[in-house]
Amino acid sequence: MGDSTVCLTYDLDAVAAWLSYDMPGFASWGVYGAEVATPRLLDLHDRYDVPSTWFVPGHTIESFPEICGDVHDRGHEIQHHGWTHRSPNDFADREAEKADIERGIESIVDLTGERPTGYRTPDGSFSEHTIDILEELDFEWDSSDSAHDFRPYALTKDPRPTLEEPYERGPKSDLVEVPLVWHRDDWMQLFPVVTGPEWVGYSQEQAVFDRWRAEIEWMKRNVDDGVFVLLLHPQCAGRAPFVSHLEALLETLKADPEITFADASTVADDYRNG
Ligand SMILES: [Zn+2]
Repeated sequence: MGDSTVCLTYDLDAVAAWLSYDMPGFASWGVYGAEVATPRLLDLHDRYDVPSTWFVPGHTIESFPEICGDVHDRGHEIQHHGWTHRSPNDFADREAEKADIERGIESIVDLTGERPTGYRTPDGSFSEHTIDILEELDFEWDSSDSAHDFRPYALTKDPRPTLEEPYERGPKSDLVEVPLVWHRDDWMQLFPVVTGPEWVGYSQEQAVFDRWRAEIEWMKRNVDDGVFVLLLHPQCAGRAPFVSHLEALLETLKADPEITFADASTVADDYRNG
């Protein structure tokens, strides 16, 4: 099999993750994610010299500018994750959704001097307008969709499924998809709060890492030029002992000659350039 790539991504939601929850302690969990967990994770990446992609809401950038600046200054790319971290389906109309995305772009440009090229939706969903808005605003890639587990693809403008009709894929967009799957989302596996009926809460950390390692081994044996995207949240991934499991995983992968690390922009560019 060809080279395998591991792509580590972080959603630095910080306090923005909790804006719609009326629980006083939740905001402090966001503060922890920014002020305690993020420096810890950046130190880990420095030690192993591993690149990563950080999807950061504008709300986080403007609440914690020094920490977000540190992410950028230490060589990691900052990409778009909404300004308010709201679901694209929660906006009143297309204009309101576009205004939130434009505000998020401004926050990133003010911090880094560069426009973001990539987007990750805050909740895994698109509105009927999201992909068109991303095209209008010159985004080049997205990392929210799950139509493959190991390969980038051209993101399609798929319709919502209905009870009456068979499903038909929509037309291709201009965006490359760097796909994620929720099995590789630390929050879904491990965050110890049930905030929705679909969230299982806490499970055994070693078992989660065993699964991720097994997926990577399967990819190496079965997928040419496979890409394994991991979705981590500092509020979850920065805590012990999770961070120790993550360090052990980086150590294993760093020593593996078949594995290359790349950020999500590089994965998207490689796909686009064939
Ligand atoms: Zn998020």
